[in-house]
Amino acid sequence: MSPATPTSKPASVSSAHAPMVIIGAGQTGARTAHALRENGWEGEIALLGDEGIAPYDRPPLSKSVLLGQKTAGECALYDDAFYRDNRIDLRPHARVAAIDRAARRVTLGNGDTLPFHRLLIATGAEPRRLSVRGANLRGVHYLRTLPDALAIVDALAPGQRIAIVGAGFIGLEIAATAITRGCEVVVVEAAARALMRAVPEIVAGYLIERHRAMGVDVRFATQVDAVLGESRVTGLKLSDGATLDCDAVVVGIGVTPRTALAEAAGIDVADGVAVDDTLRTNDPNIFAAGDVCSFPHRLFRRRIRLECWRNAEDHARVVARNMLEYGETYSAVPWFWSDQYDMTIQIAGMPAFGTTSVVRETGTSSRVFFALDNDGVLVGASGVGVTGEIARDVRVAQELIARRAIVPPALLSDRSTKLKSLLTAEAV
Ligand SMILES: Cc1cc2nc3c(=O)[nH]c(=O)nc-3n(C[C@H](O)[C@H](O)[C@H](O)COP(=O)(O)OP(=O)(O)OC[C@H]3O[C@@H](n4cnc5c(N)ncnc54)[C@H](O)[C@@H]3O)c2cc1C
Repeated sequence: MSPATPTSKPASVSSAHAPMVIIGAGQTGARTAHALRENGWEGEIALLGDEGIAPYDRPPLSKSVLLGQKTAGECALYDDAFYRDNRIDLRPHARVAAIDRAARRVTLGNGDTLPFHRLLIATGAEPRRLSVRGANLRGVHYLRTLPDALAIVDALAPGQRIAIVGAGFIGLEIAATAITRGCEVVVVEAAARALMRAVPEIVAGYLIERHRAMGVDVRFATQVDAVLGESRVTGLKLSDGATLDCDAVVVGIGVTPRTALAEAAGIDVADGVAVDDTLRTNDPNIFAAGDVCSFPHRLFRRRIRLECWRNAEDHARVVARNMLEYGETYSAVPWFWSDQYDMTIQIAGMPAFGTTSVVRETGTSSRVFFALDNDGVLVGASGVGVTGEIARDVRVAQELIARRAIVPPALLSDRSTKLKSLLTAEAV
């Protein structure tokens, strides 16, 4: 997937070209700008953002920022000197309003236009909104940006009653930080269990047990019918008829990829901007990467879209090279982590694509759950517990997944079997 850095310059690095233009000054956009320079692009790079601040890391927003352990400034991906030294024209107030494919230029919200040599769409995703009566009341929060996180920090004072809508990763991380800060926490989830799209039931159950032990009130198969209050939220009306009093609500019901610009320009969209396995759209001059795109994955034999930090990093490295015409295919095994309480969750592959689960105890309270598909191929591994007790097994599982290994369940569950010894297993 990542051949060595080129020794000779590809023709397309010349500064005579129009700029490389990147829409979206998030993690994918910033890392791609950096990788373009590392791969020898000598022309201009425009990094266009609409958040009004330089690119930053989002994972701390639901963890250390909410716990008051990290400041906004400490989340920045690079300092100002980096953009200057690398001649990256970072414009944090430059919302892109339209893409003109025929003229190969973008139009900004203020009417300015900018030509491009190659264009990257890295517009990420935005939180799905709650669409019930009262959803716009003050005290109803979403979490995607730094200002969102800072508003939630203020709401998480000890003794406050916090209702979290959605038992996905963001909702559960916020539940963990809120209860750690001394709040009363209720999680309301419409589905019958947590993390429906991410992990098998057994993994979700293991996590939820811990949340309940920590005092979080988790309610499944329960929807929010209305948000109650005059100008500010005072409670939730639930589908089981109950009323839940609360001081603030945090909604974490998933995200939708920001595809509007691409769609308006006639670029193919399929649960995200549709790219091929080199991250190129149906327009040869336009690429998409990160949370916004869906791409065909060789290992899982289907199109997937990922919303995770590692994918943003890996996509950026590959897409930068492909904007320079290296034509590399992207086939990294997905990897995701989450922190809740003193537990780390590490996920390799696509556990939700599995039909059989196998558990391996790797420590007193640490487990790795393997997911096998109908053919017995290992497609995912979810480690839950102490980092040192799960990380190695998840890493080896990543290699097994990359080989499409067929591994006997009895060996996976047997703690005395060294996972590394299975790397010779049959592959399909
Ligand atoms: C609270 C939180 C916690 C997370 N925790 C984890 C974690 O523990 N582990 C993990 O693996 N992943 C985690 N993630 C996911 C990870 O942060 C994302 O996958 C990553 O940020 C994706 O980067 P991106 O650049 O593709 O998209 P984004 O970060 O969404 O960046 C896209 C940028 O494009 C901008 N933009 C959109 N439209 C336009 C336009 N028209 N013009 C200009 N700019 C535009 C947006 O404002 C945004 O700044 C977390 C995410 C959040 C929100």
